[in-house]
Amino acid sequence: MQTHYAEGDLIAVLTTQPLDRALDYKAPEGGVFEGAFVEVPLGPRKVIGVVWGPGEGGYDLAKVRSVIRVLDAVPMQDEMKSFLIRVADYTLTPMPAMLRLGTRAPGLGDPPSMRKIYRRGTTENPDRWTDARRKVVAVLDEYGGLAFTLKELADMGGVSTSVVKGLVTQGVVAEEDSPRDLPFAKLDPGVAQVDLTAEQAAASDALTAGVASGKFGATLLKGVTGSGKTEVYLEAVAACLEAGRQALVLLPEIALTSEFLTRVEARFGARPAEWHSGVTMTERRRVWKMVAENGADLVVGARSALFLPFQSLGLIVVDEEHDTSYKQEDGVLYNARDMAVLRGSITGAQVVLASATPSLESWANADAGKYARLTLTSRFGAAVMPEMRAIDMRAEDLPGSRWISPTLVRAVTDRVVAGEQSLLFLNRRGYAPVTICRACGHQVGCDHCDARMVEHRFQKRLMCHQCGETKPLPNVCPSCEVEDRMAPVGPGVERLAEEVTALFPDARIAVLSSDLFGSARALKAQIEEIAEGTADIIVGTQIIAKGHNFPLLTLVGVIDADLGLQGSDLRAAERTFQLMRQVSGRAGRAERPGVSLLQTFQPEHPVIRAILSGDEEDFWRAEAGERRAAGVPPFGRMAGIILSSPNVQDVFDVGKALAARSDPLRRIGAQVYGPAAAPIARVRGRHRVRLLVKADKKAPLQSALAAWVAQIRLPNNLRLSIDIDPQSFY
Ligand code: ADP
Ligand code: ZN
Repeated sequence: MQTHYAEGDLIAVLTTQPLDRALDYKAPEGGVFEGAFVEVPLGPRKVIGVVWGPGEGGYDLAKVRSVIRVLDAVPMQDEMKSFLIRVADYTLTPMPAMLRLGTRAPGLGDPPSMRKIYRRGTTENPDRWTDARRKVVAVLDEYGGLAFTLKELADMGGVSTSVVKGLVTQGVVAEEDSPRDLPFAKLDPGVAQVDLTAEQAAASDALTAGVASGKFGATLLKGVTGSGKTEVYLEAVAACLEAGRQALVLLPEIALTSEFLTRVEARFGARPAEWHSGVTMTERRRVWKMVAENGADLVVGARSALFLPFQSLGLIVVDEEHDTSYKQEDGVLYNARDMAVLRGSITGAQVVLASATPSLESWANADAGKYARLTLTSRFGAAVMPEMRAIDMRAEDLPGSRWISPTLVRAVTDRVVAGEQSLLFLNRRGYAPVTICRACGHQVGCDHCDARMVEHRFQKRLMCHQCGETKPLPNVCPSCEVEDRMAPVGPGVERLAEEVTALFPDARIAVLSSDLFGSARALKAQIEEIAEGTADIIVGTQIIAKGHNFPLLTLVGVIDADLGLQGSDLRAAERTFQLMRQVSGRAGRAERPGVSLLQTFQPEHPVIRAILSGDEEDFWRAEAGERRAAGVPPFGRMAGIILSSPNVQDVFDVGKALAARSDPLRRIGAQVYGPAAAPIARVRGRHRVRLLVKADKKAPLQSALAAWVAQIRLPNNLRLSIDIDPQSFY
């Protein structure tokens, strides 16, 4: 039971405003519970907040203002409060920003909005029966007491809305106001149970037993693409629903396709609540409210769904748990995969991390016994994992400015002839990564960033992939002013598509790259069409690697398997391994077997060898060994500090001052590296400097970091952000 404050009691209210603490107010008439959402005055404005605890006092109480009103929303549970505090402590985020994340639904304070609904009225007969009128009444009689919206009722009767309105005037149909925020349809765990294979059943039993225990537990569910991981975790969802608790399935944004929702509907008889960037504001509000009122059994969403106000969460699934999009890279820098485990542990829920290619973090946790591990070893049914082979590019005869080797061309030709699909994968957007002047060697860069401009031929412009700035393709070199010598260097997907068109003039070609579509929805629609067979050859970036079935796809050609291997990123090998395996996993998912060909100049590179051998455990063990020896995540801790400012002197001065006053970090045995200009030293006109902190796994890193940065006064306009467990190092 939460504390109740009587009218006039001094209470602390945490608002979403960027202040460094909760503010004191007086409890309103009728009193208020801790956790209640309230509206309070702040200067001339009214803002929303949460009753956080007793007020601090210690000043003139006569000046303390009263809470304006208590909002019609379920109060925040203690568990949610602890979760927000723990995430704030872990990521060093101020609480108001955490509260914003927890209340990301517009109009929470508004009274419930209403809409008109229609049901059978008290009058038996209208003044005159017509065919159209009979149809409407027949629909209402058939569905008993159910109510419909005007449009639904007219559509079901096959009449115009004016017919319904006419019946309303007569009293035969009743028009009522009903709240818009209706609960979601109940999901039925028994609708379409599948016969699991022995291996799947064993995994499903282990997960359902965990859910039935009502306790926290984390499990790594590892299995090749197509092995039935989704099928298995949907059984855990069923068990969770049976236990009367709520379930949450997190997916990377791009994998949130209607294919997945349809699958849930087929399994449980109704669609789940959805939470992602494509959901309308009104619908968001409905989801937020219904999750709090137990009117939503299952939410399928992107990472921020983790901050919805679940009342009785029993299961969190993080599908494609290795996906980098789970790390939020601006605002609150949290990793939804890790925070899902935290929320599960606070709330007593089971957490399932599913992937064909787990992150090394999760693999190591399973290896150390912190997470249970369940493995599905084979694809379901006739489907087998694609055969993987390297194409040794040193032995291929390929002219300049061409990227598809003769061996790969032959393989694609075979598929086109057989009526099967091929995917050519190149993880580079645009036409060409570099535009160079052949007279003077000048490369066109962005005016605001330390980055080269990428040619986008569809848009006929050069674009900066850091800040989005575009400019027309110059015909005259900006440096030496010689005309007509500007030339593209290197391939992007658009240029690759050009080569494919030249090689296969009669094939249907589809190019899939995130920037070629206005919206995520348009992109998903296109992916679905392709899956049905509208293209022979797909040319795509990594958006294609995620969670979609292409039943006709039997060949994957990786244009540049070496691309990810050179980076300075500590996860370069891991990322390449995951991406190559994921992309290759797109092939041969139905009855026809698939093959995956990797074009590489270094076939004996250990990562390429591990990809080809299919011995994944070997790869993880070797990679874990190297990271352990280096003391880097997941075997050590890291934090990135990014300073940015329009003033280059300021960023270096503050960076040096921080490095010079690193006592709080040295005391916990941590090392500080830098300051150094960030790999991308300027973004949107702001100069960037990085420091890197490395510490022992057990060191109290957050408190030391907080004490460290608190010593320095930051000049105006200088931004300092701390990234715990950084995933990106640019
Ligand atoms: P994953 O999530 O591991 O990629 P899925 O759960 O999507 O695998 O399964 C791949 C395909 O095989 C899906 O179309 C799924 O419906 C089907 N499938 C998997 N297991 C079974 C089963 N036991 N019975 C029927 N169909 C299955
Ligand atoms: Zn730029």
